[in-house]
Amino acid sequence: MAAIEQRKPVGCTMGITICPKHGRSSFVETCQHAGREIEQGKVPAGHDLALLGHLFVCDTCFDQPGFDRFADLAEMPVEKAIDDERWQLYEAACDRLEGREAFCLHCVRELGSSLDP
Ligand SMILES: [Zn+2]
Ligand SMILES: [Zn+2]
Repeated sequence: MAAIEQRKPVGCTMGITICPKHGRSSFVETCQHAGREIEQGKVPAGHDLALLGHLFVCDTCFDQPGFDRFADLAEMPVEKAIDDERWQLYEAACDRLEGREAFCLHCVRELGSSLDP
């Protein structure tokens, strides 16, 4: 059973968590469903939206608030993406995700997921 540092996310922005295994580390925010899979040591199924940080949402949540509209936002440089009008929509969509969780990025990658650093 992997011990995964967990803390409540403060928002949809990039932050740092202190992992007992990896020290200071970036974290991945997830919806509650993907978070539950990670807690169980499984590779979560869903979509990784890498904007300021990583936001990992399961298929169901990805469909609900229309996250697919933000997929190409993740392809843009952050400085540009922040100025894009979709950014605020993205943040609003994030706020609608209930029960978000945050995990150490390295721990999630060790589960075998293909998240970029
Ligand atoms: Zn979900
Ligand atoms: Zn870790």
